[in-house]
Amino acid sequence: MLRDYNKTDVIVVGAGPAGVSCAITLARAGKEVVLIERGAFAGSKNVFGGAIYTQPTKEIFPNFETEAPVERRNIAHNFMILGEKDSTTISYRNDDNVSYSVIRGKFDRWAAEEAKKAGVTLVEETVVRSLIKNGTTVVGVQTELEDYYADIVVLADGVNSLLAKQIKLRKEIEPKDVALSVKEVIKLDKNIINQRFNLQDEQGAIGEIFGGPMLGMLGLGFMYTNKDSVTIGLGITLNDLVENNYRPFEILEALKSHPMIAPLIEGGTLEEYSAHLIPEGGYKKVPKLCDNGVMVVGDAGMLVNNLHWEGTNLAMISGKLAAETAIDALNSGNFSRRTLSLYERKLKETFVLKDLKTYKDLMDVMHQRQKAFLSYYLKKINSFFEMFTSVNSIPKKENYHKFIKSIFTDRKISELFKDAWAIIRLLWSILV
Ligand SMILES: Cc1cc2nc3c(=O)[nH]c(=O)nc-3n(C[C@H](O)[C@H](O)[C@H](O)COP(=O)(O)OP(=O)(O)OC[C@H]3O[C@@H](n4cnc5c(N)ncnc54)[C@H](O)[C@@H]3O)c2cc1C
Repeated sequence: MLRDYNKTDVIVVGAGPAGVSCAITLARAGKEVVLIERGAFAGSKNVFGGAIYTQPTKEIFPNFETEAPVERRNIAHNFMILGEKDSTTISYRNDDNVSYSVIRGKFDRWAAEEAKKAGVTLVEETVVRSLIKNGTTVVGVQTELEDYYADIVVLADGVNSLLAKQIKLRKEIEPKDVALSVKEVIKLDKNIINQRFNLQDEQGAIGEIFGGPMLGMLGLGFMYTNKDSVTIGLGITLNDLVENNYRPFEILEALKSHPMIAPLIEGGTLEEYSAHLIPEGGYKKVPKLCDNGVMVVGDAGMLVNNLHWEGTNLAMISGKLAAETAIDALNSGNFSRRTLSLYERKLKETFVLKDLKTYKDLMDVMHQRQKAFLSYYLKKINSFFEMFTSVNSIPKKENYHKFIKSIFTDRKISELFKDAWAIIRLLWSILV
């Protein structure tokens, strides 16, 4: 229960991975927390691929592997390069417990229940409309029904974060800095999934899909195996969709009927369809993450590593670090921007901002050379294997020469130099 009527130590807005991790960390330290979620229950509005990652999830929920509603333990990563009809797949298998597939409607609900058990007051079906300020300090939130007050408010309200925009911590997201993702969950018998993906028991597989109907677009597809369903989807930057008038649902239909993908989902029935935005701006687009009385965590702070499909882990760890900062602030009774900026400093010392910084130039390079890297070279990889596997009585040396020659005739030499220079610059910024 709240100490005074509607006044608590910390209000957390949004019960996704960031908000729940923040709230549970605070409650375990004996602080009073109200977690407000607009959905009918935590997870009911949440969409992802997707996999949660074992090590960071254990930092918040040490026993989640045995207690949480996980689907499958991922042992295979299949990188699929699709041409129009052909494909090349690189498969990496290792039973090392790095990640689990989950259904967010189930997992987030379980995580929020764990937070309740730790002492968090969970308020569901309630939308936070605006933040209440006293001068320059955030002191509470306004919902449809009533106002709640707190020493600190944590914004974990996801990619759109209207609340962070409202207090000018963040600007409107540009269409090039966000991807629109559409996905389907397709029900299939467990044994059929195991057979088609070469899995046993609760083992799972992740598919990262390049090209196919997305050739030349700044976007990727994904597949995840659940207990008795398969998730398939794709994400494409919003400006690509708008500028080219692409319809994401049609692209997903085309992906599902690609000769590499269709046999994997054949005979399945559609169980769920959803769409969601993914932050893609990276390090350069991370906004201010705190101000007087307020901190921003997870997707609301654009903390997503899109190359590695990592978002939930950055959300959980940012939520935890914001909670630790709030605990110190509550103990000292100081909620100023200066005190809360410890949260930003902690983020900089962890993989969260270090990884985003590592890839700070990635999206710029991809925007500049997307046709090269997401069309021309993908096609060339498939045509190399077409040449390598062909048996047509043409001497192999002639095939090799023809293939090498095509690299220089199909693309201007000046463009090849620009591509090489872009790769060198990118590798330099990643590795040095
Ligand atoms: C298609 C897709 C695939 C993905 N795949 C992966 C993956 O495989 N692995 C991975 O790690 N990450 C993946 N991600 C990214 C990951 O889902 C996000 O990074 C992560 O969910 C961010 O957590 P969050 O708590 O910050 O935000 P969210 O999960 O978006 O949670 C925000 C919460 O706030 C609530 N809310 C919003 N506004 C209000 C309000 N005003 N009042 C009250 N409540 C509010 C929402 O209902 C929601 O519950 C994927 C994302 C997408 C879209």
